[in-house]
Amino acid sequence: MNDAWQAEIRKVLVLLALALLAGFVSGRYLPMLLLVTAGYLAWHLYNVRRLLVWLRAGKGFEPPESSGVWDAIYEDIYRLQQRNRNRKRNLRRLLKRFHKMTAALPDGTVELRSGGEEIEWWNSAASRLLGLSYPRDVGQRISTLVRHPAFQHYLAEGDFDKAVEMPSPADENITLRLRIIPYSGNRRLLIARDMTRMQSLERTRQDFVANASHELRSPLTVLAGYLETLASAEGSCRDYQPQLRIMQTQTERMNRIVEDLMLLSQLESEIPAVDAAPVPVPQLIDTLLEQARELDGVDGHEFVVEVDRGLCLRGREPEIYSAFSNLVFNALRYTPAGGRITLRWRREEGVPVFSVEDTGAGIAPHHLPRLTERFYRVDAGRSREHGGTGLGLAIVKHVLMRHDGRLLIDSEPERGSTFSCRFDAARAVDCPPA
Ligand code: ADP
Repeated sequence: MNDAWQAEIRKVLVLLALALLAGFVSGRYLPMLLLVTAGYLAWHLYNVRRLLVWLRAGKGFEPPESSGVWDAIYEDIYRLQQRNRNRKRNLRRLLKRFHKMTAALPDGTVELRSGGEEIEWWNSAASRLLGLSYPRDVGQRISTLVRHPAFQHYLAEGDFDKAVEMPSPADENITLRLRIIPYSGNRRLLIARDMTRMQSLERTRQDFVANASHELRSPLTVLAGYLETLASAEGSCRDYQPQLRIMQTQTERMNRIVEDLMLLSQLESEIPAVDAAPVPVPQLIDTLLEQARELDGVDGHEFVVEVDRGLCLRGREPEIYSAFSNLVFNALRYTPAGGRITLRWRREEGVPVFSVEDTGAGIAPHHLPRLTERFYRVDAGRSREHGGTGLGLAIVKHVLMRHDGRLLIDSEPERGSTFSCRFDAARAVDCPPA
């Protein structure tokens, strides 16, 4: 371009020199200068017109033949066009590859625009799982096509860190897990995963545990009955008293495990009933305290109670009792004699919280994330020795999940632990007058 520009300047200077020479010969400088300038202008206008015609003719046409600076302009524009064309082709290929890739995904993927509601694009799995049809559903609002109340609530709530499960609108035998992922301003991606197989495996597991524990209950009751008869019998049975006592202790332990397993299965499989009457938590804590003192016997723990007696909880009493009693009896089990156990029930930062603090063994931080897993114990020997089943905290977690609550554990080895059940603010109710 630089060369062409210099050549053009040289051309203008030569033209000027010619005009001056002609002016000198004819004695008419001005007309000669005007004539040369007009000729030069006409040549440029002609080229501008050719450029417009060429640009409007669109792609695919080679630039017209020209000379000087115009040749360089055509060349540069042509090269720019070629580069853009290549870039566009590459982008188109990339887009096609991306669409093919997402189309091959087993999860339904729907692209939503305009505040995350209008459907713009979806893959074939989404057509199958959500019943979307092209072109009918392009531009439709997702809330008008997926009308299940769970999804409507999920959209309205706007907490997209969570996912929601519901039957597929295309086939109610398929269970879907839907998750919205916001991206790029107000755009959203809806991912629909088929959970039918996972759910059926989970149901098989739940049924197995429920059936196995149910089947074990009857033989255990028979065994416990006979053991009791033998233990109190006279005669040759007297010689086997120590063995019979061990058998009785172990049968009781098995019974507790079976009962805890059955309770867990029930918590997992039953849909929570509507919470009608408020749970009288203060009275429930009184009962627990009485039982704990009775169990404590000669150990002599110090009990401290801080209870808001006007605060009750919307929930299911037997479940809340199970959860709270597990925490209280764990504190007893893992706090040496003479230790202090503090039970609190009050509003903290506006939400109802039940907490049990002890000055017991405490738990090392690396155990904390696994503590609510079934049969996870920090010290299996100690847990068995105290009659633990390894299922207590799993029960607490499930009960809290069914009550929109969370279990928080704060613990330090040799210092003690605090187990807190934090419920949703909406679950707090004033206790009815006694
Ligand atoms: P377990 O029946 O063994 O007590 P849990 O599920 O109730 O089962 O508790 C799991 C493990 O967590 C226990 O084995 C114990 O190691 C630990 N743990 C629970 N509560 C406490 C506590 N208050 N202090 C120290 N460790 C505890």
